[in-house]
Amino acid sequence: LPAAPVAALQSDDVAALLPRPGRFAHKYTRGVVGVRGGSAAYPGAAVLCTSGASAGLAGMVRYVGPAADEVRRRHPGIVASQDEASGRVQAWVVGPGGDAEAEAALAAALADEVPTVVDADALRHVAPGRADLVLTPHAGELAALLGVPREQVEARQLEHARLAATTYGAVVLLKGRHTLIAHPDGRVRVTTSGVPWLAVAGAGDVLAGVIGSLLAAGLDTFDAASVGSWVHGAAAAVAGGGGPVTPEGVADAVAGVVRDLPF
Ligand code: AMP
Ligand code: MG
Repeated sequence: LPAAPVAALQSDDVAALLPRPGRFAHKYTRGVVGVRGGSAAYPGAAVLCTSGASAGLAGMVRYVGPAADEVRRRHPGIVASQDEASGRVQAWVVGPGGDAEAEAALAAALADEVPTVVDADALRHVAPGRADLVLTPHAGELAALLGVPREQVEARQLEHARLAATTYGAVVLLKGRHTLIAHPDGRVRVTTSGVPWLAVAGAGDVLAGVIGSLLAAGLDTFDAASVGSWVHGAAAAVAGGGGPVTPEGVADAVAGVVRDLPF
């Protein structure tokens, strides 16, 4: 594969790509994002993922899964259900805290034939052949996707992100110090807005929700993944101001990052 150049996303690229509501927008034209995840053992991941999804970049968030009570308590604006989604969802996010339920959650999301973010536990069940997916592994999850040792992915991240994108025929976002977003056509973007304080449990769940909201708002998988990653990293830098962050703090800082973009 002739390697296309790697493009480093900057704030003006993000400003140009970010969907903003027009004067006559309503919540449905801004996009409906659905989250499937969480389990009895891990309800918190679902709550954090819905925090990312409801950071303001889409018009409506739905949640389906065992953490419906927790999600509703934390986010009164979210329509949450234990079992089935009522109403149209324009993009799904599946996986955070999914545990044993992840396989069924992935199947239910994919049955809707809408763009879907596949994260965490759902990555263990994803198969090649759907071009409308964003896979969001960290190095260990990418190693499992490719059946290679984690050390090999960590030593040659760009090569493995590209390989996973072509193998799965979908956009693959490899998380870490710098985040690589690989398109199956060979293009790669990198975002460097994040800070090491982002290496905290739950940060990836927020990222998956943010990317899902951008898919629902109408961005394609490559743009949603790269814009979402840049905004998420910048939100961590702003939230921490050089110090530590919580995943909820990152989600809360997204609005300020968007407000300060060079539109
Ligand atoms: P997860 O592994 O799913 O919990 O996601 C971790 C999040 O933290 C991702 O958004 C990573 O890109 C980010 N992250 C992890 N380590 C670093 C680091 N050293 N510097 C910047 N961001 C990081
Ligand atoms: Mg994760």
